[in-house]
Amino acid sequence: MALFERGKAGHGASWAAAGMLAAGLEAEPGEQALLQLNRASQAMWPDFAAELERASGMSVNLRREGTLMLALTRDDAARLKFNFDFQRSLGIDVEWLTAGEARKREPYLSPHLAAAIFSPDDHQVDNRLVVTALTRAFTAAGGALREDTAVDEVAMTDGRVTGLRSGGALHPADTIVLAAGAWSHEIAGLPPAAKPPVRPVKGQMLALQMDPAAPLMRHVVWAAKAYMAPRLDGRLIVGATVEERGFDPHLTAGGMLALLEGAWRAIPGIEELPIVEQRVGFRPGSRDDAPILGDSGIAGLVYATGHYRNGILLTPITARAVAHYIMTSETETAIAPFRHDRFRVRTPA
Ligand SMILES: Cc1cc2nc3c(=O)[nH]c(=O)nc-3n(C[C@H](O)[C@H](O)[C@H](O)COP(=O)(O)OP(=O)(O)OC[C@H]3O[C@@H](n4cnc5c(N)ncnc54)[C@H](O)[C@@H]3O)c2cc1C
Repeated sequence: MALFERGKAGHGASWAAAGMLAAGLEAEPGEQALLQLNRASQAMWPDFAAELERASGMSVNLRREGTLMLALTRDDAARLKFNFDFQRSLGIDVEWLTAGEARKREPYLSPHLAAAIFSPDDHQVDNRLVVTALTRAFTAAGGALREDTAVDEVAMTDGRVTGLRSGGALHPADTIVLAAGAWSHEIAGLPPAAKPPVRPVKGQMLALQMDPAAPLMRHVVWAAKAYMAPRLDGRLIVGATVEERGFDPHLTAGGMLALLEGAWRAIPGIEELPIVEQRVGFRPGSRDDAPILGDSGIAGLVYATGHYRNGILLTPITARAVAHYIMTSETETAIAPFRHDRFRVRTPA
């Protein structure tokens, strides 16, 4: 088993992410099938994290304080109430908090706070520790980690995958999992119909440094224009813009301003914190913004891509369902709505 990575493993979108496991608060109208998948994966996280920690010998800092979603004005509160009713109608466990109740949980929240939702099941994990642990577990299990080794193309013979080419060499393989994130559409060698319809969705993020012994906050906090995820080492991840700009790698003044202003309106005390990182990442967004998992219709080619804004959340269920598919050729019910063939144009009989 080998993993080909043209840079350093886990340093794509998975490095830029905030690590929120937010199946509940991410729920949007019209995405019921995705909500089921997100919730199933969310439920798997505690066991997955424990197994990964055992296999890698390191912690991934799964934090289970839950998430607060804020309304800072009366208009915001009306929108928040709409979200709250929608989440409750889907059976998501959310609690409505007055400003005073929210401030009991997070004392540094803005004095202008109007109301908040508390979502006890929307946790977070340190995604950088997760990818580091995954690479350790992979090599410990005998996997060959080939970093700085780009895949030039997938090799095919008589309509089936026979391996891949990298640096002029052919690496034979019975099965290839296409998991190149926002670049998944660009991998050469596949027939056009087999290229997953994935585009990059740019996200700018930054990190502030809190005193880990006296952090400004413990929960993940979502405000109108920014969310904040506090790490145990004191880093406060502030994210993220959502931009349709292809692979534009630039941080912009407007992007940083929106994030800092959004975070500052929620927790004014961030104003004193040093900025320790700014970064752009590219979410792999599919045509319907849902992942593309499992069967490709081509012998030997399996998809694990298109995870868009929930790739960290969806890690456990993707790992389980893709492994199951490779071992048995069966598609788990949970991922059946996310097969690639949903994009095929059907001609009327
Ligand atoms: C700012 C931001 C915040 C986010 N926050 C969250 C969050 O809080 N929670 C959550 O669940 N999700 C979040 N996401 C989404 C999540 O990060 C992605 O869905 C997930 O990381 C996608 O993982 P991936 O492995 O498919 O892609 P990536 O992590 O991008 O990995 C793809 C890898 O493929 C490699 N590659 C590409 N082409 C080739 C080639 N030809 N040969 C070899 N290697 C190649 C790349 O170098 C890259 O390392 C966020 C994303 C962004 C950008």
